[in-house]
Amino acid sequence: MTVGNNAAALTYERIQLRLDQLKLGRMAEHVDAVAEEAANQEWTYLTFLDHLLELEVAARYERDIVMKTRLAHLPFHKTLDQFDFSFQPSVNERQMHELATLRFLAHGENILFLGPPGVGKTHLAVALGMAAISQRQSVYFLTMVDLLEMLHRDVKEDRLGHRLRTLCKPKLLILDEMGYFPLDRMAAQFMFQLVSRRYQKGSIILTSNKSFGEWGDIFTDQVLATAILDRLLHHSATVNIRGHSYRLRQKRKAGVFTGIAEDQKEVVADPSTE
Ligand code: ADP
Ligand code: MG
Repeated sequence: MTVGNNAAALTYERIQLRLDQLKLGRMAEHVDAVAEEAANQEWTYLTFLDHLLELEVAARYERDIVMKTRLAHLPFHKTLDQFDFSFQPSVNERQMHELATLRFLAHGENILFLGPPGVGKTHLAVALGMAAISQRQSVYFLTMVDLLEMLHRDVKEDRLGHRLRTLCKPKLLILDEMGYFPLDRMAAQFMFQLVSRRYQKGSIILTSNKSFGEWGDIFTDQVLATAILDRLLHHSATVNIRGHSYRLRQKRKAGVFTGIAEDQKEVVADPSTE
């Protein structure tokens, strides 16, 4: 009896040790419970192994998602489900759900979200980024301001080539807020190289408050702007968002922001009428 128990204890220890050596942590954690359930339910050996392996695979998936989410540097975590499509009718809900299937990513296509501030460009870009991560794709989010800062540091440290290679690696690169600041010649040339290198290989989601016609102003060089746009747009979807800022929605409702005639209707508390 004691001998049998000892043997079982040794086997258990050895299993723990081996699972540890093989870095199968979740299996090590659950092996007793699953073995007990197997005995209770009279599972076959294969069913037992299947259950145990499933736990490890699920653990690895979770870890991978956590890691990819960290590496993506998203400014916030919001999904398509959190987007109120009724507030922004110029965004086609069906098109967004189609984009969230990530077919565009498989084909290396780009997406451009254009529109004024606060209409949800970054939200939608982030939501597609999160959809990509959930399918275990690598994503990297960068605002153009941060990119410009990086580039000016990189020039001094002679690391532009390294930066270019790094930004070509993620399957999806999100460049947020193109157009708030002009790009000098060096930055524009870098953008050209980045877009060219990623062309048809890795997707770019770009958001901008500027229409394509105004891109010449962002780049100062019209020829370069055209060349960049040409590659960006060749395999791409453009989503033009025309509408009100979601950020100002509450303020409009409270009657703080009454600049536009249409907004007057939404004023809830207008002291002059009380
Ligand atoms: P933009 O990038 O166009 O300036 P954001 O995507 O940053 O706008 O949106 C501003 C804020 O409003 C974010 O917190 C975003 O989640 C929220 N938001 C914008 N549009 C919507 C919407 N239609 N439904 C829900 N939240 C929205
Ligand atoms: Mg934004």
